Amino acid sequence: MADPIQAVKGMNDILPPESGRWEWFEDKVRALMRRYGYQNVRVPIVEPTPLFVRGLGEVTDIVEKEMYSFVDSMNGDPLTLRPEGTAGVVRAAIEHSMLYEGGKRLFYIGPMFRHEKPQRGRYRQFHQVGVEALGHGGPDVDAEVILMARTLWRDLGLADVRLEINSLGQPDERRAHRQALIDYLQAHQDQLDADAKRRLHSNPLRILDTKNPAMQALVDGAPQLMNCLGEASLRHFDAVRAVLDAMGQPYRINPRLVRGMDYYNLTVFEWVTDKLGAQGTICGGGRYDGLFELIGGKPAPAVGWGMGIERVLDLLQQEGLAPPPVPPVAYAIVPDAAALPRAVVCAEALRSAGVSVLLHAGGKDGPGSMKSQFKKADASGARYALVFGADELARGEVSVKPLRDAAAAQTARALGAEATWAAELLHA
Ligand code: ATP
Ligand code: MG
Repeated sequence: MADPIQAVKGMNDILPPESGRWEWFEDKVRALMRRYGYQNVRVPIVEPTPLFVRGLGEVTDIVEKEMYSFVDSMNGDPLTLRPEGTAGVVRAAIEHSMLYEGGKRLFYIGPMFRHEKPQRGRYRQFHQVGVEALGHGGPDVDAEVILMARTLWRDLGLADVRLEINSLGQPDERRAHRQALIDYLQAHQDQLDADAKRRLHSNPLRILDTKNPAMQALVDGAPQLMNCLGEASLRHFDAVRAVLDAMGQPYRINPRLVRGMDYYNLTVFEWVTDKLGAQGTICGGGRYDGLFELIGGKPAPAVGWGMGIERVLDLLQQEGLAPPPVPPVAYAIVPDAAALPRAVVCAEALRSAGVSVLLHAGGKDGPGSMKSQFKKADASGARYALVFGADELARGEVSVKPLRDAAAAQTARALGAEATWAAELLHA
């Protein structure tokens, strides 16, 4: 036999029953989006590489070392598996003039790809829910997207997810801060690691985001962007905070919060938990008013976030908040192959009436013994076994055997009155 082929490292299969938890989570997300008026958007997984190089910034972790980029062997186009969702959504908004009639509130759910070292909460194919509120420049929308995440935590039953916020101000304010930062870091050259030295002039702000413990003290003492913000930026930040305060949502202002992409300005935020070890950020986002122009569109303000689904599900699991599996209501037992057509008619009628039915699947030698069928029925978790025995069928009936409750077995009209029968089952 040939060697078995395995999945790519860091890319996971999501199998039942785990996939049931994903569906449950996604249902909660879709319900949330409907309540806030966010519409679903589905953009390609593969995009032209320059979209991300321009959009995210050349000196970011993602573009420097995490992108799955390749050349289309048919035509030589440089392509990339999307590492995040925002750039693609903004490209689509520009390409289809989506903001022609005003702002758009959008969300997506789907896989992202980053070539990182696989570990808990960090995979090479992972999944995000994201929201993007496009075309709105006010602090009201910043607060709205932040609060949407909070509502989702509540819908999921998650307590103890902390909010951190910061303001990155506007480009000119960042330039002033950048110079102050370079001056400070240069004065402490000897304490910089190799990464920081390389970024000193290309992207000093990102040095503040270092995960190197040896540099924490240095970074703690660095000049803060907050002190370089002008009046308008401070007003915007205060307005966001006022809404959070009114909602009773606590937050920590974290002056070191800079986020991984270059495109952010003004409000940035992260939702963080202490319960997932090093990968504690489960949702991050902010305002990105410059991105439309950066990738060739008419300027338009925007704000959004991305949420790591694996991390949220991990947290839910850890908190014992995973939903129970949903077994079928009924398992149809077919003692004899001759009963199959009528069993199928019945099962179909029940399904039409909204009752889930798992029909016993036989082998090429027939349906198998009653004992083995009952064993399968029990293992399926179904509440009832429906037995399509020859005697019952001759009377136009089927026996309904409760598998979970103490209730007595009964017979029901198998043909002709399926709807009543289904309703009885459902409400039993
Ligand atoms: P980190 O600092 O953990 O690398 P990030 O700043 O790169 O995160 P974003 O690009 O902001 O992450 O993505 C938004 C969210 O997506 C993160 O908060 C996290 O929950 C999730 N995420 C990011 N990268 C991964 C990954 N490789 N595997 C699983 N989830 C991820
Ligand atoms: Mg990262």
